[in-house]
Amino acid sequence: MNMRAPTDKQTDLVLVGGGHSHVQVLESFAMEPPPDTRITLIVDRPVAMYSGMVPGFVAGQYRQEELEIDVLPLARCIGARVIVARAARLDAAAKRVHLVGRPPVAFDFASINIGSTVAGLSTPGVREHALPTRPIGKFVTRIDTVFASLGSSGTGGATEPVRVAVVGAGVGGVEVAFALDHRIRELGRAVEVILVESGPEILPGYSAGMRRRALRAAEKRGIRIVTGRRIQRVESGRAFLEQDEDGIRFDILLWVTGAFGQPLFRASNLPTDERGFVKVRSTLQLEDYDNIFAVGDCATLTRHPQTPKAGVYAVRQGPVLASNLRRVLAGGLLLDDYKPQHDFLTLINTGDGSAIGTKWLLSFEGRWVFQLKDRIDRKFMHRFQPLDDTGHPTAFSSSTMGDGPDETETETLCGGCAAKLGQQGLARALARIEELPENSSVELGLAQADDVACYTSPQGQRIVSSADQFRAFTDDPYLVGRVGAVNAASDIYAKGVTPRFAQALVALPESGSDAEREETLFQLMAGATAAFEELGVTLVGGHTTTTTELLVGFHVEGFADPDQELLRLDALCAGQSLILTKALGTGVLFRADMMGRLRGPWFEEALSSMLRPNRKAASIAREHGASAATDVTGFGLAGHLATMLRAADLAAMVNVSALPALPGSLKLLGAGLRSTFHKENAKTERGMEIESAAPRHPKFPLLFDPQTSGGLLFGVPQENAEAALDELLESGHSASIIGITSEAGPDSRIRISISRS
Ligand SMILES: Cc1cc2nc3c(=O)[nH]c(=O)nc-3n(C[C@H](O)[C@H](O)[C@H](O)COP(=O)(O)OP(=O)(O)OC[C@H]3O[C@@H](n4cnc5c(N)ncnc54)[C@H](O)[C@@H]3O)c2cc1C
Repeated sequence: MNMRAPTDKQTDLVLVGGGHSHVQVLESFAMEPPPDTRITLIVDRPVAMYSGMVPGFVAGQYRQEELEIDVLPLARCIGARVIVARAARLDAAAKRVHLVGRPPVAFDFASINIGSTVAGLSTPGVREHALPTRPIGKFVTRIDTVFASLGSSGTGGATEPVRVAVVGAGVGGVEVAFALDHRIRELGRAVEVILVESGPEILPGYSAGMRRRALRAAEKRGIRIVTGRRIQRVESGRAFLEQDEDGIRFDILLWVTGAFGQPLFRASNLPTDERGFVKVRSTLQLEDYDNIFAVGDCATLTRHPQTPKAGVYAVRQGPVLASNLRRVLAGGLLLDDYKPQHDFLTLINTGDGSAIGTKWLLSFEGRWVFQLKDRIDRKFMHRFQPLDDTGHPTAFSSSTMGDGPDETETETLCGGCAAKLGQQGLARALARIEELPENSSVELGLAQADDVACYTSPQGQRIVSSADQFRAFTDDPYLVGRVGAVNAASDIYAKGVTPRFAQALVALPESGSDAEREETLFQLMAGATAAFEELGVTLVGGHTTTTTELLVGFHVEGFADPDQELLRLDALCAGQSLILTKALGTGVLFRADMMGRLRGPWFEEALSSMLRPNRKAASIAREHGASAATDVTGFGLAGHLATMLRAADLAAMVNVSALPALPGSLKLLGAGLRSTFHKENAKTERGMEIESAAPRHPKFPLLFDPQTSGGLLFGVPQENAEAALDELLESGHSASIIGITSEAGPDSRIRISISRS
């Protein structure tokens, strides 16, 4: 990844949405980056869905991964900042994009490619009972759940036909109707599909030949078609047409009623057409703003308002947009015009290995038509798959996106909790202090080597306090602030105490302008306060300084009751089950991100794990009789466990196959990737007794992977372990019972085994 260091005069280009045009802008800029430009990509998800293959997915022809455009590594190829958030509004005058749940982002130039939503969602009952095809990501997940319930005969009763109603008979609706009919039969269930269209005929605007072929194919499958009628309201299991008392009975209701504008433009007071699509000139610039572009479904060309809302137009706009953005960034005024093509090849997948096509009023069908569609779709997707499913750069991406990770980048140290002094170095440094301070009001201090300090105020209040600081692990300061706050509060939770107050310690990069530093600090503190607020922690102050890079730290305090037993690090007992409450792998995953090798879905999972506070896990630990706990961070699971065992003079058997792993982490570790701090953590291995096959186990390296905002590790009586685990899993933790403690033997403290079960 070519993370460019900020200079004093960078132009901010913000791309909102990861649609078909923007991925081409990323591709073009990867080959030739615009100079002095900081690019930020704002996406509601770091993966975009390619709609052209969605009906094939519904029919069971493609796996979900095959429809995913992985925008995170595409953006990393050009060193772009990626913000995962939903854009809610654009303040064109103030040049700011307002985001849901976090502060706005400033721009000099912006481009919007956010697609469309589905029309008619306000029809009574639709939101509650129908399955809209947009947002596509949500649709794909929901339809999968529907199929899973059909597989287990949960819908409609196993012998009854499954009743499917598809509302809207444009290309999308017709394809989805065929696809569902095929898939449900493949699942061994009888099916009755009805397709409802408010217009006089199906496939409005397409050739008569194509329509005839589609009607014939529908008749062959027994798909009923109702035209010229509109669904007026929907109730559970029934959709009502006008003057229709009985309604259409359904088990599954698909809402595919055509494109409608996203609420963002109306919320922004920008000129839109009657369906809420923002109006753009032929240069793809908004009517009144030269510095804002909009493309794809979300925009309507003022000179060609009838241009259909189809992906092919968004695709064709991509190169024009890339070229025009390049020109405006260079100060140019003379831009290219985009002229929509009059006709395009339309291919309808009938779900059974065949397809119907039309172009220039000609129509055709057959298996070869599906093969043609499949080839075109796969070729497009291949272009935007910079990584294979193990996180390796694909040959295709290397040829279009350059040589992949910058070799100098691979030497850069990892951030997050991986950026710390090794355990042994820390211990040696402290041991060199001849006289550690002694104070009778200190319950946990340097001598106890716990994660926190605990001392009593002169008034008798037990104060539990901790300080944490790390180097930014990603380039979104808001996110760094949020994760930093969750991570810092975790130390206090790990002792069974509620954190109450926090102070921030922030070091801002010396490079860049004062305004950039101010914005970084603002975003960071906004993230931290949002996280602390959720936890009931009040941020009361802090200190800033400047240095070579962004560092964020927090001092957090809570209060223990006078007779409260803290979950001290040294209080594990022999014969306890060891429970880990979060999956491991953040170290290698963010190492991969630094190298442009982190896939979007893995990023999403890692983020949601890091942002999960350890509050609930700590209360479950206490309820089930935990005596000791720690939060697993930079020293990795093995390092933190070794410290606990040493402090309690115990040993433990750890079952490496039980370690929970974040998605993608094992693939990356298997490919030899490691956090830069892994080697230091792996020194713990020297004191371990390891079953001979264990080092070859794919999860073995997870023992040493440094974690940022990791889970709790605690010990509970064995008889309570399953109940504690059940509660953790029910509350959404990726928890696991990873081992058992025992009396310390003469040899090593940690024995690593592989479960035979
Ligand atoms: C079932 C179905 C099948 C279709 N099949 C075809 C076909 O075969 N051929 C064809 O040409 N067209 C097809 N279409 C139409 C096609 O989906 C759209 O025309 C096309 O996706 C538009 O592309 P786009 O780049 O404008 O936006 P999209 O592809 O929708 O991309 C928009 C992106 O922006 C993100 N986003 C959305 N809102 C926000 C926000 N507020 N903030 C941040 N990010 C946001 C989304 O997550 C998404 O990644 C089909 C549509 C459907 C529903």
